[in-house]
Amino acid sequence: MNKHNTLPYKFLLFDLDDTLWNFKENSKAALADIFDQYNLKHYYPTFDDYFQRYEEHNQSLWRLYGTQQITKSFLHVERFLAPLRPFGILDTSLAGEMGTAYLNRCAEKTITMPHAIETLEYLRSQYELSIISNGFGEVQYTKLNRSGLSTYFSHVFLSETIGYHKPKPEFFDAVLHELGALKDDCLVIGDNYEVDIEGAMNSGMDQVYYMPYQQSFDKTMLSPSPTYIIHDLADLRVLLKC
Ligand SMILES: [Mg+2]
Repeated sequence: MNKHNTLPYKFLLFDLDDTLWNFKENSKAALADIFDQYNLKHYYPTFDDYFQRYEEHNQSLWRLYGTQQITKSFLHVERFLAPLRPFGILDTSLAGEMGTAYLNRCAEKTITMPHAIETLEYLRSQYELSIISNGFGEVQYTKLNRSGLSTYFSHVFLSETIGYHKPKPEFFDAVLHELGALKDDCLVIGDNYEVDIEGAMNSGMDQVYYMPYQQSFDKTMLSPSPTYIIHDLADLRVLLKC
């Protein structure tokens, strides 16, 4: 094994949701549990019918949350209440209970992104690996532990603990300080352009933009352009010469 990396990195900083832990699939599996647990087939003939309606509401609520028109606690209740309201159900405490049950179920799901585990297995021998995530502490640790991902990381950096969210430079500064790392020694890997890629870019770190659902993509469409773009985590081995 080449002891000296060809690329000048020592620390790899991974986002968690939809970069290593498959949020999309795990969330759908958790909603299927909720569909069964709360007997929602009474209102929707199939899970897919329910899921489609839930997703419509969830996405528009996240847009409102993103522009600070609603609070997170409203989103938490409303995404479960809205699909039931046409059936005369107006029980906010029931919807809140469903919201909490969904989050707990979701964190216990263990689907990782394709080639995540095997790629980390290779990378761990040559790099120090950390998690950088905006998610909530309790939930993120459950995800890491249940999915078998936790064993690969020396540090787990959460916005909740640091007190700043990605893409704030303060978040990345705190990570560098804690690791005792220089920004040139770090490579950030994430699936969210504004949060992971621009955040790292503005803090002077190189970035890998992971785009699992867009297999062909013109890099020049993004401005500023990320240092690297990959569509499969296995490509990190090629990129990082492991
Ligand atoms: Mg993500």
